Amino acid sequence: MRQYVRRFSILKGWVIMSNFINVPEIFGTNVFNEATMKQRLAPEVYSAWKQCISTGSTLPLDVANAIAEGMKDWAIERGATHYTHWFQPMTGITAEKHDSFITPTGDGKVIMEFSGKELVRGEPDASSFPNGGLRTTFEARGYTAWDPTAFAFVRDNSLYIPTCFFSYTGDSLDQKTPLLRSLEEVSREAVRILRLFGDKKTQRVISSVGAEQEYFIIPKAMYAQREDLRLTGRTLFGARPPKGQEMDDHYFGTIRTRISSFMQDLDEQLWRLGILSKTKHNEAAPCQHEMAPIYSDATNACDANQLVMAIMKKCAAAHDLVCLLHEKPFEGVNGSGKHNNWSLSTDSGENLFKPGKTPAQNAQFLVFLAAFIKGVDEYQDFLRCTVASAGNDHRLGGHEAPPAIVSIFLGDELNAVVRSIIDGTNYRDPEKRIMRVGVDVMPAIPKDTTDRNRTSPLAFTGNKFEFRMLGSSQSVASPNIALNTIMAEELRQFADILENAKDFDKALHELVCQVFTNHQRIIFDGNGYSEEWKQEAARRGLSNYPSTAECLAAYGSEKNIDLVTRHGIFTEAEFLARQSIYLQAYNKTVNIEARTMVDMVMHQILPAAMRYSSELTESTLRKQSAGIVSNTEAVLAARISKLIDGLYEKCEKLREDLQKVPAGDQVAANYFHDVIVADMAELRNDADALEELTDKTYWPYPTYSDLLFY
Ligand code: ADP
Ligand code: MG
Repeated sequence: MRQYVRRFSILKGWVIMSNFINVPEIFGTNVFNEATMKQRLAPEVYSAWKQCISTGSTLPLDVANAIAEGMKDWAIERGATHYTHWFQPMTGITAEKHDSFITPTGDGKVIMEFSGKELVRGEPDASSFPNGGLRTTFEARGYTAWDPTAFAFVRDNSLYIPTCFFSYTGDSLDQKTPLLRSLEEVSREAVRILRLFGDKKTQRVISSVGAEQEYFIIPKAMYAQREDLRLTGRTLFGARPPKGQEMDDHYFGTIRTRISSFMQDLDEQLWRLGILSKTKHNEAAPCQHEMAPIYSDATNACDANQLVMAIMKKCAAAHDLVCLLHEKPFEGVNGSGKHNNWSLSTDSGENLFKPGKTPAQNAQFLVFLAAFIKGVDEYQDFLRCTVASAGNDHRLGGHEAPPAIVSIFLGDELNAVVRSIIDGTNYRDPEKRIMRVGVDVMPAIPKDTTDRNRTSPLAFTGNKFEFRMLGSSQSVASPNIALNTIMAEELRQFADILENAKDFDKALHELVCQVFTNHQRIIFDGNGYSEEWKQEAARRGLSNYPSTAECLAAYGSEKNIDLVTRHGIFTEAEFLARQSIYLQAYNKTVNIEARTMVDMVMHQILPAAMRYSSELTESTLRKQSAGIVSNTEAVLAARISKLIDGLYEKCEKLREDLQKVPAGDQVAANYFHDVIVADMAELRNDADALEELTDKTYWPYPTYSDLLFY
């Protein structure tokens, strides 16, 4: 229910009325957050919960019962009749099954009940969620377990409880479990490093994430007329419109009224759910927009981003619009990505990627920086794999998004620091000091003043890294699992060396200098979109996987398995199951797209073109019998007929090739990439050429001009 406060003001006889939202008042009202828990739970229950999340211990049943009771009463006051264990299976979206609170009292009436057991554990059927072969069908049961570090919330008359999702055998089947594991790992290893720099008080290091979300909005009525959009989320056909994004008149332009009211509604819903929606603007492509939240801890940021995507879709529908989260809804205009801003900070809020004021802080900063550089260089493939998907294949390396090659941008100032440590030369500072890493000898690191490099996949932006390779529809969990785990591994190695060093300053300098020297190939500040970079990257020995099929072949390497199992993020079986899930997702996506194309060609495009060409032929005959000398219709009919023949032939080829998909996830993925995707491109070419020649009244669905410039 909308609770607008209406404001009236009378101005020279005009009555101005506006919908005023009291943001501080509504913010987080639908979240059972810490403040609410403190207010609604008995003090001993609240402190038991606090204790449990800070130590990771299990919650005693009586405490769980008391929390469940408080949560239920609070939720019912907000209109909830049901509760749901909300989880993030490997489908990329979230899953929920709703149970009502009702319990019969025996006299034909009901009361509303919710126990600690129901809060802590659920038992959804797991058989229809992707499991990559981890679960046999006779063990169809799955379990959900409450994640007490994430807050429950009320939406659409249900109490949502964030949970982890496991198979009957205890294998993780979701995105959240490995994320939580990776947070523990990076925290422990980072604290070890902090101790070496004299920090005795930090108990936890927190990974912070801010996910900027791009999306397209189009009218629902046009969406409904396109089978490709409905079935695959992107247009599989469509000739280039006369105008694209070349005028750059959409970027940061005035937001249209209809979109603006959608955005206002979206913000309000997000704020009520405690999501820090901060910035909104038009993006580069027509109909494209972006929403950026204020960052938060990684678990809540991942949950929030899933909610953002779900609410964007729902909210758009309420405004007769459709929100497209696909990475490439339209060929020829920019696709949509997601920028994952990532950093580490202590439990007292000190950002570990911020160059400090004292030599000790700067030495510590360089250790974290060195760990990041070494980790990204050693695990480029792993990082690249976390953003591989059929949708993202249309973006990466496509001159609008970062290349498929992973590299790090540092900026001029930091580069100069790294350079002088490697070369042992004078740093560009007024006092001409040698850049030696050590607690007592570090010169200051100046604040970065260079421009951002928009073409870099992984850019240092002053106090965080911005990972820009993510696709717009992806969960941000996987890349963050990778970043945290890589960091945990490198910090572990560093701590092992430094804890045993006799001369700490000397060991520190040697370590940082050696890492910068050995891993400098991953640092690149130039134009990532350029052809020269591809060649240069190859010379440097960096990997370049332009497609999902090529990339995922590298996922299950021994090196990656060692990394994730050493840190207990995944068992080997869980990890390999993910590889299989990602490959199958790719294969299914391309298969559906190809079949949709065949369907549209046979049932819509060919019949439309044939009707038009027969009208042209009839017109030619009519003219001839009337003695009119003109051959335009005949020429056009001939051109269209030729394209019709070609289109039909290509459609048959695609249909036949779809029958020949080989068995095996990886082999099939290679086949889909090499054969089917190529067939699809050929088919589209002819269909788009036909669109350009055909009378619009014959064309069976809205064109790019209709969709993008409505
Ligand atoms: P941009 O120019 O890309 O919009 P901003 O500096 O405005 O860059 O920040 C982009 C995103 O980075 C925002 O979501 C912001 O909250 C997030 N961010 C800022 N600091 C951090 C941090 N320490 N950790 C994670 N994300 C952060
Ligand atoms: Mg950004």
